Amino acid sequence: MLDDMKEEIVILGSTGSIGRQSIEVAEALGLGVAALTGGRNVALMEEQARRVRPRFVAMASEQAAADLRVRLSDLALTVAGGEAALEAAAELSGAKTVITAISGAAGLRPTLAAIAAGKRIALANKETLVCAGALVMERVREMGTELIPVDSEHSAIFQSLRGGEKGEVRRILLTCSGGPFRGWDRERLEKVTAKEALRHPNWSMGPKITVDSATLMNKGLEVIEAMHLFSLRPEQIRVLVHPQSIVHSAVEFCDNAVIAQMGLPSMKLPIEFALTWPKRSVPVAPPLDLVSVGSISFEEPDREAFPCLALAESLAGRRGNYAAVMNAANEAAVGLFLEGKIGFLQIHACCRDAVEHLGGPAESLEELLEADRAARRFVLERH
Ligand code: NAD
Ligand code: MG
Repeated sequence: MLDDMKEEIVILGSTGSIGRQSIEVAEALGLGVAALTGGRNVALMEEQARRVRPRFVAMASEQAAADLRVRLSDLALTVAGGEAALEAAAELSGAKTVITAISGAAGLRPTLAAIAAGKRIALANKETLVCAGALVMERVREMGTELIPVDSEHSAIFQSLRGGEKGEVRRILLTCSGGPFRGWDRERLEKVTAKEALRHPNWSMGPKITVDSATLMNKGLEVIEAMHLFSLRPEQIRVLVHPQSIVHSAVEFCDNAVIAQMGLPSMKLPIEFALTWPKRSVPVAPPLDLVSVGSISFEEPDREAFPCLALAESLAGRRGNYAAVMNAANEAAVGLFLEGKIGFLQIHACCRDAVEHLGGPAESLEELLEADRAARRFVLERH
């Protein structure tokens, strides 16, 4: 049967923003979907499972899985719940590529499971590299597998790197929209509400990354992500604010050539490219008309108003648990901010204080996961 010969992928976090778009891209490319995973949204998972007919579906909890199992009892597929089930989806035999679109450090273990099973990783879940970048990249090398970025900036860098040799790269220019509060000072930022922070000017994304884009922590996480992905030193990464989000990032080579990748703000191209690389395929993302874009601009980020960026940059080169602690404290603080329990500027304060109290040496996965848990406790106990 032709269907049985389709190349198959797994989508971790299929009910989220990247996950939903990944299903559309897979359909456009004619790829089969062997497994899906989700958190709590059982209704959407039922719809997705009926649409793509995976062999295996995992939900974050046993309870959500039990509910889904009843809803899907007429289909021939396995439904499981809990952390082990997420890992089982990541390891599923037959699938070649795993798209990691879980939000937060919760994506780390499933990503490691996929790497250990020799899967090619299309990585959206940047927190995995922030929490345990050295360890993850080491496991990728050991397994001889590939980790291809889905984050739009990193996809742009990955594409632009084809413009020269590795040794010819001087630095990368990591672009940043500036978020909804570009140009605001701390006094104004003090009063920002969750509703305002969730209104991103260019991108429609999940709530956590949308708040990260407003604090510029997202760009800080991306500096660390880029360092690990492309084996760069922190000083080789320059963040540039580019409000139109047309130049998705660029590479500056030793002869001053700057090669960039451009496009409208859409995650469809980076998702597609991660699946088709080293080839290009059909157009799924919208075409770019430069005349209708008109003009584009660039400016320095304001690290005083948005200190999360400076904090992440300052930790980027440090060995130990620093980035893991910052990342987990940020996740907890963003959660509190979205619940209206802390102010916008307190997100940075939580991260800074957690790093000050808990930062230290760590190498093993267990030590990093313990640092992650301790940082969440630290933030939640204080608010
Ligand atoms: P989202 O919140 O829309 O979706 C997150 C997905 O992860 C959902 O399927 C959710 O059910 C699942 N999930 C969350 N917590 C979980 C847990 N504890 N256990 C199991 N599953 C869990 O997020 P998103 O915007 O799609 O982002 C996903 C990842 O991609 C993030 O790491 C984000 O930084 C990255 N990313 C997103 C975009 C974007 O445009 N949305 C762009 C670049 C990178
Ligand atoms: Mg990005």
